[in-house]
Amino acid sequence: MGLEEYRRKRDFRRTPEPSGEGGPRQGPGRIYVIQRHHASHLHYDLRLEKDGVLKSWAIPKEPPDRPGVRRLAVQTEDHPIEYADFEGIIPEGMYGAGKVEIWDRGTYEPIEEGEGKWTFRINGERLKGEYCLIKFRAEAGDKNWLFFKKKG
Ligand code: MN
Repeated sequence: MGLEEYRRKRDFRRTPEPSGEGGPRQGPGRIYVIQRHHASHLHYDLRLEKDGVLKSWAIPKEPPDRPGVRRLAVQTEDHPIEYADFEGIIPEGMYGAGKVEIWDRGTYEPIEEGEGKWTFRINGERLKGEYCLIKFRAEAGDKNWLFFKKKG
């Protein structure tokens, strides 16, 4: 996907969000972060580092810390790596206007990365253990996934 859509949606003279010019960060482990985003609708943005960007999903309800709860996760545009550290207020009138705060952070280890099915181990403060992201339908344009914790 790259960062074209991310940049197209934002005016970096007016939003405090990073433009993603900083390039990839150095550090051990792949970034995992969830940001609580109090936009017009409160939601949680799950972001996982892959291929030099943060793959992103918007989760309308609090992410599950135990098995048995499945959450809709709507894939959104890739975000720059620097976004993992972003907290602040996106001004009114801007895309995603509202408060962003880090809800959980850490690293993740991929277990399986198939087309439309990812399983991975989250090492966060709130979320720990094996999680799964599964696409509802196989069609390329479909953005709806399920996010849940695996049993055991
Ligand atoms: Mn958001």
